[in-house]
Amino acid sequence: MFKVRGFTPQSQQRQSLCNRLRADLRADSGNAPVFCPCCPLHLTRRRLIASAAALALGGAAAALPMQEVAPGIFVRRGEDADATAANGDAIANIGFVIGRDAIAVIDPGGSGADGARLLAAIRARSERPIRYVIASHVHLDHIFGANAFRAEGVEFIGHARLPAALAARGAFYRQHLVDLLGPTAAGDFVPPTRLVEDELRLDLGDRVLEITAHPPAHTDTDLTVRDGASGTFWAADLLFVGRIPVLDGSLTGWLATLAALKQQAARRAVPGHGPVSVAWPEAAADEERYLATLAREVRALIAKGVDIEIASREVGYTERDKWRLFDDYNARNVIEAYKELEWE
Ligand SMILES: [Zn+2]
Repeated sequence: MFKVRGFTPQSQQRQSLCNRLRADLRADSGNAPVFCPCCPLHLTRRRLIASAAALALGGAAAALPMQEVAPGIFVRRGEDADATAANGDAIANIGFVIGRDAIAVIDPGGSGADGARLLAAIRARSERPIRYVIASHVHLDHIFGANAFRAEGVEFIGHARLPAALAARGAFYRQHLVDLLGPTAAGDFVPPTRLVEDELRLDLGDRVLEITAHPPAHTDTDLTVRDGASGTFWAADLLFVGRIPVLDGSLTGWLATLAALKQQAARRAVPGHGPVSVAWPEAAADEERYLATLAREVRALIAKGVDIEIASREVGYTERDKWRLFDDYNARNVIEAYKELEWE
C-alpha cells in the first residue's frame, strides 16, 4: 500500500519517539542547548530506535566497518586480542545477512557498545526488519551486544544448551565486562527465545539460512549457519584462522565435527576469528593440525603417567610460531584436553 510521506500513522509514532529522544538528550546534558540528531535527517522509526540505543550507551554509535564477503553478507573482522578497555571486546568476527524481506544478525557483538555499532552498520545499509539474532555460542565476545537489538522485536536464536550455559556463566561474563568497560558499555546477554536442537531453517525472503546445532566441540553450544544462496558457510568459532583455537567443549568432538563439516562444500567460510572470508575446507587445515597435535601429545603423556601440570608446559610447542596468542591459551587448552582424554 502506498502512503504519502508525512501523513502516515508512523509519522505520529516517529514524532513521539523523537520527542522522547530530545527529552533524553536534554536530561543527559543538563540545560545546555541540544541538537536532536534525528529530525534534520528525517529518520525513520527504526533508525530512531538505533539512535536511541546508541544514546543509551552514552553517545551516537559510529557504524562498525563491515566487509561484504558475498552479496548481502557483511562481516566485521574482530581484533586478534583479548578483551580490553581499548578494544571494547570487539574481538570476534560478527555480522549480518540481508534478505529480500528481513535481516538476520549472526553474533551481535562483544559488548553493548559493539552491538550498538553493529546495529548502526545495519541501518546504514538497510531498513528492512531485523528478524533474527543468532548466537553462535555462549562466549561473551560473540553475544554481549544482544541487548542493543531488543527494541527491534527480534527472535533470539540459540543452541538448545545455551540457556543452561548462560545460567552458569552469564553473570560472571557480565561482571568481567563491567569491570573492563563500565556498566553501560558492557552490554548483556539475552536468553534465546528460540532453541535449535538439531537444525533450523530461517527464510529471509530470497535466501534461507540453515542453522545447525553441533555436539560439544569448541563449546557445548555451537551453531553454524549456511547460506545456500551464496554458498557461504559461517563457521563461527568452530573455525579459528591465525589466532590459536580455544578449547572449551570437547577435543575429540571438535575433531569429529570438523571432519564432518569439511565434507560439505562451500564457496567460502567465515571464521569466528581471523580473516572475514577464507577458502573452505582448506582454511581448516591449520586448526585441524593443532587440535590433532594436542590430542596426540596429550595421549602420549597420559600413557606415560605424566602429570597434567607438566603436560601443560610440554604439549603443543611445535605449534608456537604458527598462532597468535599461543602463550595465552595453549596451556589452558592442554589442561582441558588432558581432563577429557584421561578418561578414555
Ligand atoms: Zn568462542
